[in-house]
Amino acid sequence: MRTILGKMHLKWCHYCNLPVLDKICNICGNEPVEVKLTPPGGARPAFEKEIEFIENLIKEQFGTKEDILKGRIVLMNKLPGNEDMQEIIIDGQVIAVLKYDNGWKIMPRLEGARRIVNAGGYKKIVVIKEDVIPYLLGRSSSVLRPGVTYVSEGIKKEDEVIILKKMNGKDEDVVAVGRAKMDYEEILNAEKGVVVKVRHAEEPRKANELKTSEKNLRELFKDMVKANEDVIRRFEENSVGFMRNTAKRINLPITVAYSGGKDSLTVLLLALKAFDKEEFDVLFTDTGLEFPETIKNVDIVQKTYGIKLIKEESNEFWEKLEEYGPPGRDYRWCSEICKLKPLKRLIDKHYPNGTLTFVGLRKYESFSRAKKPRVQKNPHIPKQINAMPIHNWSAMHVWLYILKNNAPYNKMYEKGFDRVGCYVCPAMELGEIDKVKREYPELWEKWEKFLRKWAEKHGYGEKWIKELWRWKNPNKRKNK
Ligand SMILES: [Zn+2]
Repeated sequence: MRTILGKMHLKWCHYCNLPVLDKICNICGNEPVEVKLTPPGGARPAFEKEIEFIENLIKEQFGTKEDILKGRIVLMNKLPGNEDMQEIIIDGQVIAVLKYDNGWKIMPRLEGARRIVNAGGYKKIVVIKEDVIPYLLGRSSSVLRPGVTYVSEGIKKEDEVIILKKMNGKDEDVVAVGRAKMDYEEILNAEKGVVVKVRHAEEPRKANELKTSEKNLRELFKDMVKANEDVIRRFEENSVGFMRNTAKRINLPITVAYSGGKDSLTVLLLALKAFDKEEFDVLFTDTGLEFPETIKNVDIVQKTYGIKLIKEESNEFWEKLEEYGPPGRDYRWCSEICKLKPLKRLIDKHYPNGTLTFVGLRKYESFSRAKKPRVQKNPHIPKQINAMPIHNWSAMHVWLYILKNNAPYNKMYEKGFDRVGCYVCPAMELGEIDKVKREYPELWEKWEKFLRKWAEKHGYGEKWIKELWRWKNPNKRKNK
């Protein structure tokens, strides 16, 4: 059976102020409203630490005095094809984009700008004459110098700014958001020219706020699970049924591939529903580049569920690295060495006649995956038949299921990582690299040391060390 990558439908109950994946909110019985996300829409919940990080960023950038995200579920939706851009969703709306561009930045949408102004934001503000407003409402407009009556101090060219019709500290004053095209001093001295390139503009109106809660995030998570009870149960039943049927149809020893990530944890939880734990083994291949939390998580999961864990390790990366050079998006020797080789070894040793492996692949993760059948031979390891019980789950389904089961997920997710692969990977975006540097400085140092050595040997510069190492042929990176 073939599947096509559809749009992920995320909805929001405006009565309970919670995300809902089904047609009905299971708490209040009301119909949720569609959230307008950028497709494919792999939204996921943000945890305490990430919320605090964003809150601080907003305060730093715009000088807000009150919290904007408190008492609400916050979701993050990664935008495809960028270094690192994530939509921030509260109250069923995208209020801003969190962007990595030589540092983390908030790009507010109009709804975010209204809340920033309400929360006392006074930095990065441009006030315009009221008669200019109609000219901003069209497409690709600009604020010109003669239309400006006030600019807040310290604005730098390329800063994200909020455009107001009055400096009242009221949401109804927000007209537009955009990017500054001059520095503060330049604006003061200029008589003409573009001050701001407008990104979004709208007739001024009140912020569309839903009710906040006194509850903490964990209690809100419980409500979120409750609001989605039916859909979670349905997805579980469907996947468990698929697993049992597949196991009956393919008469091979059953295994579950575990990586320490949320998707494989979900598959493991489903396997524990579908089978007795004595009926399957859990496979973990350590690439040798795992984060410490991943190793810890594998251990905790094993102890929590009393599963039979079969491990295999690769330790060839650093040795091969000297020979091959850094792996690239166009030169992925690492997956062969660090993933396939140990997995093949493991299967040859423990399942000489083959195995049926349940894996946590989801079609929403990539367009190329969407077209693959739900059960297929591993193209690299013919003895392994892979089956995908959660191929039609979104990241939200996965998180709801994990939270519902109170399952021990990898703590890296709480630090704002949305992927827990190797700590060196050419697929990493600059924002992700920044997170690794921040949270695991000693791991990154080891890698950077290698990059510096390699760059010196080949005459590469700082840009290569910072970003271009991720391609063997950086000139081709535009059409990755
Ligand atoms: Zn509701």
